[in-house]
Amino acid sequence: MKPLDQALVELMAFAVPLGPAESVSTFEADGRVLAQDLLSALDVPAHDNSSMDGYAVRCADWVDAGTILQVSQRIPAGSSGHLLAPASAARIFTGAPIPPGADAVVMQEDCETVEGGVRIRLQPQPGQWIRRRGEDVSAGAVVLHSGARLNPASLGLAASIGFDQVQVAPRARVALFSTGDELVMPGDVAPLEMTPGAIYNSNRFFLKALLERLGCTVTDLGIVPDRLDATIEALKGASQQHDLILTSGGVSVGEEDHIKPAVQALGELNLWQIAIKPGKPFAYGKINTAHFIGLPGNPVSSFVTFLLLVRPFILKLQGATELAPQSIAMPANFDWLKADKRREFLRVKLNPAGGLDLFDNQSSGVLTSAVWGDGLLDNPAGQTIAHGDKVQFIAFSALLS
Ligand code: AMP
Ligand code: MG
Repeated sequence: MKPLDQALVELMAFAVPLGPAESVSTFEADGRVLAQDLLSALDVPAHDNSSMDGYAVRCADWVDAGTILQVSQRIPAGSSGHLLAPASAARIFTGAPIPPGADAVVMQEDCETVEGGVRIRLQPQPGQWIRRRGEDVSAGAVVLHSGARLNPASLGLAASIGFDQVQVAPRARVALFSTGDELVMPGDVAPLEMTPGAIYNSNRFFLKALLERLGCTVTDLGIVPDRLDATIEALKGASQQHDLILTSGGVSVGEEDHIKPAVQALGELNLWQIAIKPGKPFAYGKINTAHFIGLPGNPVSSFVTFLLLVRPFILKLQGATELAPQSIAMPANFDWLKADKRREFLRVKLNPAGGLDLFDNQSSGVLTSAVWGDGLLDNPAGQTIAHGDKVQFIAFSALLS
C-alpha cells in the first residue's frame, strides 16, 4: 500500500497546469484562479481621510472643554477641502480627505454646534479618526499573486485597485460517470419500487457538485453499465474535449470491475492501493491527452478520496498554488481504541466545548457521517485516541471550496 503523501506527490507530478489564460470580468471571477499578479498603481486609500462624521481640527487649537472653533469649510465624501484656516474646524464626513493643516478628527458625538461654530468637548489626540493614505495598499504592491483563488473578498480588493477585468486560468473540463449495474437514478424508480440489490446513485450528485465548486465545467455522462465494451466506449468518447475523466466505482479488482482493463486498452493506468481509510483503491491514468481518475464506489470513500486527492489535482490543473487544506490541532472528546494500519480520516463534529465528537458509524458506506460531520480527523496509521488527546482536524469548509 502507498502512503497518502507519496500518492499525492506522484499524482501532483501529473497535473500540468492548463492554459491559455483568459480574461474575465472581475464580476464573474469568483472562484477562478488568477493567472497574473495584480499590481496596484495607487495607494489605497489614496488620501488620508476621515473614519468618522465629525470635525477636522488642529489639536493645537484646543484649549479646554469650552473650546469653540469657527466652521470654515465643509467636506463631504467625494469632494476635497483646502488648507484649514487657523483656529477653525472643517465639517467632515466619513471617507472625505483630511484637509491640509488638520491633524485629527473629532467625532460629531464629542462636539456641539453652537452660535458661531462648534464646541469641541474632548481634547483631540493627533491622528485620531484618520485613516492613513496607503494603509490598505501601497502603490507598487502586488495585492494578489498569480495562482491565488479568487473569493468575494479578493474580488473587492482587485476592484479597489481598479481592475475591472482579470486574467484567470481556464476551467478544467471534466467528464464524469458512475459505474455499477446496481445504480438507479433517483426519479427513475420510486423508493418503494426499487428491486432488491438496486441502490440510488448518490456519488453522481456529490461529485458533480464538488467539481462545480472547484470551478470545473462538468459533462455528466451518467451511469455506465458493468461491461468492458460499454466502459471502453464511454472512456473513448470522454477523452475527447476533456481535461479529466472522473469515474466512481469499478476500481477494485473484482470480475465486475472493468475500469482497469478499459483504461489499459485505451491508454495507461496506475492502480494504487492508498493506505487510507476510507478510500484505498484509486486509479490514475491517461487516455489521449485526458487525465483519468477512478475513485472507489463506496460513497464515503469516493467523497474523501475526492477531497484528499482529486481536489488538489484539479486545483493544480487550474493553476492554483495553495493546494493543501489547513489542519488544526484540537482535542478529541472521545476514545478511539482500535488503531488501524491505514491513516484514517474520521468524520467528526465540532462541539461547543471546543472539542471534536465522533460519528458513531465510520463505515465507508454511511454518507450520513459526512453530512453530520464538520470535517475530517486526520489520524495517523497505528494510532489510538484517548479522550482529551490533541488530534488534527480539517474542516469541510476548507475542503469544499
Ligand atoms: P465498487 O467500487 O464498484 O465495487 O462499489 C463499491 C460499493 O459502492 C458498492 O456497494 C456499490 O454499490 C457502491 N457504489 C458504487 N457506485 C456508487 C454510486 N455511484 N452511488 C452509490 N453507491 C455506489
Ligand atoms: Mg461496482
